[in-house]
Amino acid sequence: MKKTIEDLLILQAEDLRIRELKTRLAAIPGERARLVAEFEVVKKGLEKAKQHKLKVEQAVKQQAAATASAQENLRALMIKSASVKKINEYNAILAEIDAAKKTISDSETREIELMDEQENSEKLLAKAERSYRATGRTVQGEVRELDALKETIMKEVIEREKKSAALAQNVSQALLSPYRRMLASGKGSPVGTIHDGNCSNCNMKNSPQTAMEAAHGNLVNCEYCSYFLYDPDAKD
Ligand SMILES: [Zn+2]
Repeated sequence: MKKTIEDLLILQAEDLRIRELKTRLAAIPGERARLVAEFEVVKKGLEKAKQHKLKVEQAVKQQAAATASAQENLRALMIKSASVKKINEYNAILAEIDAAKKTISDSETREIELMDEQENSEKLLAKAERSYRATGRTVQGEVRELDALKETIMKEVIEREKKSAALAQNVSQALLSPYRRMLASGKGSPVGTIHDGNCSNCNMKNSPQTAMEAAHGNLVNCEYCSYFLYDPDAKD
């Protein structure tokens, strides 16, 4: 193989690795943001569970106060009933006493329901707290790993870019400019192979003249995509 092609291939191996690393690097912020968003959901869930528990606790207190006030009302009616003389007034107060008893009973029933709700809200909160801690640990670990990976990749890119710059010295400017343009497009390998006239980059069939030139060990450009091509089976 001609040294020109060999040098270009060595440079390309380095540059393609750099491109791969940069692609990986570009994906990291998105992955990090997804992890953070996952944790935010759990955090919100915990906040909601806390709020719900507080709300139920308040409702329990309010209901207990309502029961106490209804009991107070009943006691007052009982005292009042003792001093009532007229039968119709007495009957009226008895009806009021019945109603007050019913109010107390209803309020106590509601209190029991609310206490069940309170127990439930405590369980839900405990579950949300566990989830918060577990997700927090996982996310923190994964974010740390991503940050470390980013660091490692960035170092490798810098090293390889230095190496690439040195390797580029071996390649003529006439080849380097189009090569870099193709590389920057981010698609395929700037230097591909030609087999039976077929370009490894775009798969189109080149003319026999181009195939022949490559078969003689020369670097050619694909007639369709203009990428560089060489024939790995060329005899030189
Ligand atoms: Zn092509």
